[in-house]
Order: sequence, then C-alpha cells, then structure tokens
Amino acid sequence: MLISKLKVFKSHGKQYIPNLLDVTLAERFRGRPVVSPNVDEKTVEELVQLCPVEAISKVPLSLDLGKCVFCGECQFQYPQAINFTNDYRIATCRREDLIVTSDIKKAIPFDPQFVNSYITKYFGRSLKLRQVCAGGDNSSEMELNASMNVNFDFSRYGIEFVASPRHADGVVITGPITKSMEAPLQMCFEAIADPKIIIVVGADAISGGVFANSSAISRDFFNLNKPNLWIPGNPMHPMTFIDGVLSLIGRAKRNENE
Ligand code: SF4
Repeated sequence: MLISKLKVFKSHGKQYIPNLLDVTLAERFRGRPVVSPNVDEKTVEELVQLCPVEAISKVPLSLDLGKCVFCGECQFQYPQAINFTNDYRIATCRREDLIVTSDIKKAIPFDPQFVNSYITKYFGRSLKLRQVCAGGDNSSEMELNASMNVNFDFSRYGIEFVASPRHADGVVITGPITKSMEAPLQMCFEAIADPKIIIVVGADAISGGVFANSSAISRDFFNLNKPNLWIPGNPMHPMTFIDGVLSLIGRAKRNENE
C-alpha cells in the first residue's frame, strides 16, 4: 500500500516551479509586443481604428500596455506591424513605460532609480498585501490567487495577501474602480500604516480598460494617490505579477538588453 502511494507521488513529479526567476512561458502566450518601425500610414490608420480600447496610437505607432486587453486582433490582421512575444516581464514602476514603440525591441524598462528607497529597505524581505477588487470581473483576482498556489508558491519570498488593511504594507487594486468602490478603496488605503505601496493590476485598473468611457467608474483615486507598480494584462499572468513585485522590492533585475 505504502509503496504504491510512493509510486503515485513520484509519478506526479515536482508540482512547484523550482526557480521563479527563471521561467519561460508557452510560445503562444501574449506578453510584450514588438512594434515594427516600417509600417505604412494606411496600416497605422487601420490599426488605430481596429483596436477596441484605443490602445494603439499613431505618430509614432505605439501600443499602450496599460490599455491593451490582449485580444490579439492587431497581430492577427497586421502581423507585419505588431507581434506579441511570450515575454511576461511587462510590469513597470512608471505608467509611461507601458507605452511600447518600435524603439523597444527587448525588455520593457524597469529602472530601480524610480523606485522609492523605502520600498526595498522595508519590504525587501517581507511584504503583506491587501487586495481590493474595485469593480473587477474576478479574472485578475483569480490570477492573483494562482500566484500563491502550489505551482507558483509566491509566499516563499515572504509575500502574502492578508485579510485586513491594518495588517498590510500595501494595496493591490483590480477592476476599473466603480463609483461605489471609490470610497471603500480610499478607506482601505488610509487604514494601511505608512510607509505603504500601491500596486495596480490589469488593464481595467490601469486605464479603465473596456469600461474607460463608462459613467459608472471614477478614477479620482489616482489623482490623490500615486501607484508604485503597474502590472498590465487582461488578466495578468501570475508570472507578470511575481516578476513585477520582485522587481519593485529589488529581488529581481530586468536586463533591458535581453
Ligand atoms: S491586442 Fe491590444 S492593441 Fe491589439 S487590438 Fe487587441 S487590445 Fe488593441
């Protein structure tokens, strides 16, 4: 009996990812886009019209990862202009770094000089996060859950979600921030003791996503409070979240020449 159970355990192999700093996702995963420098005006115009969330701009042709819902339509129709790679390391500490032009051929920049020094000093070894779903559709929330499951096991780095803002060092925001969630989100953030951080996850939270023009959302929270980390995706992949947080607290380095 015992031998047969041991055989079953052996056949399962390793359930967890041994090294979260060295992960390659499947080729078909849509991560960092590459924008071609040689796209004619007509194609640029059609790309701008095609995108359902106004993520594509012209002069120069650029793709805003903070708006993109990764539907893939631009790549399907104009593969000569935009191609998505499987590079999941697309989180940044500055909103403007989410805008991809043809100049960005390798990694999305994440410059530690734009990260407040208190973050690495206080949270480099332990970071407790309170998650607030501000009108989200539960997709980013599910991926955040997945980052703590047996496969990713992100808590091995001392990073965990907690049930109360009083126990947290920062807030993780998902969803476009509906008007009804505006005040609870602000109250939650104020209940966290200083110093604290803000992590914004998913296209809905970063830009409003498909709800950007809705009268039912309010983006005033970001006028009062400045985020420390922007994590694109719709929803984001757990590895994008993991890489972004580790980069923020100084435990992962992004090489822009990779
Ligand atoms: S993949 Fe992103 S940029 Fe391309 S059409 Fe879809 S939303 Fe727009």
